[in-house]
Amino acid sequence: MTSSTALHWTPAAFYRSQGDRLLCTLCPRACRLRDGEIGFCQVRRRRGDTLETATFASAVKHLDAIERKPFYHYKPGSRVLTLAAPGCSFTCLYCQNYRLSQFGRHNEAQGAAAPVDPAEIVIEAHAHNAAIGLSYSEPSLAAELTLAIGVAGQAKGVDLLWKSNGYVTPEALASLLPWLSAVNIDLKAADERRHRALTGAPLQPVLDTIEACITAGIWVEISTPVIPKFNADEDSLHALAVRLRAFDRPIPWHLLRFTPDFRLRRAAPTPPATLVQAVRIARREGLAYVYVERACGPKQRNTPCPVCGHTLIRRAIWATETVDLVDGRCPNCKTAIPGRWQ
Ligand code: SF4
Repeated sequence: MTSSTALHWTPAAFYRSQGDRLLCTLCPRACRLRDGEIGFCQVRRRRGDTLETATFASAVKHLDAIERKPFYHYKPGSRVLTLAAPGCSFTCLYCQNYRLSQFGRHNEAQGAAAPVDPAEIVIEAHAHNAAIGLSYSEPSLAAELTLAIGVAGQAKGVDLLWKSNGYVTPEALASLLPWLSAVNIDLKAADERRHRALTGAPLQPVLDTIEACITAGIWVEISTPVIPKFNADEDSLHALAVRLRAFDRPIPWHLLRFTPDFRLRRAAPTPPATLVQAVRIARREGLAYVYVERACGPKQRNTPCPVCGHTLIRRAIWATETVDLVDGRCPNCKTAIPGRWQ
């Protein structure tokens, strides 16, 4: 484990003593740190008998369309003030944000981030009528920031959203869920071997997080980067669709086109035909809300009613154009469409 002095370190939660070690209980890697050591994520370190985090900070701050996170069934057309601390608990081969997420593990990655004042950021989001989103890197590593923004945000009616890899312990997640309104979780493969090959981490904790978020009543959407030679074959896509269908409520599924980056920068991008096939497989397995943001045209961004086919929501790239729902139902056949529409 290496050390860093370039970051903004503040006291962390989610740890306990274990003999002469401190056990970090935030993610399933369960780092057991000696004094002075830094965790696998590179953004949590031991100092004496306490743990510190470098994630009470953000390298970005900008307003995004909520469709860009992506969320398609959560307050369409709204905006998100997006923050991102450095660090990630995964080592995804294709990461487009590796210069932030892989801080401390890759020489092109940087940890430069400004401290965040939760009260100020909530006021700013409120002024823009926006939610706050933690995205680009792994938001569960910013657990303390999540708690602070969540407390300040709920008092002002400002939602807090995550775009997450879902790799967090049940213990930590239980503390964080009350402060989250919606999460988009990456599900990159449905079998252990492929998931580990792509992310460097086991699959089951991700599935457990999705389940826990659903049980807690958080709005959940799923994203899957479709990557040739890793998860773009028919068997992999079928297994993912079956796994998603097994959750006990319909979940919007975003199929993301892979574009070469990081350790896969010499790989070919996902052919549009592969994404079309992925949508076909998902529909065959009974998934009603399957989307491709780019590469397959507007049809794959729109939401048709799964019963009568009426077009309920029309979208451009990263934007909602029209919403034709009445109290969350199709105006034509009255079918309830899952989502948080107000
Ligand atoms: S959050 Fe970081 S320090 Fe904690 S267990 Fe995970 S990788 Fe290790």
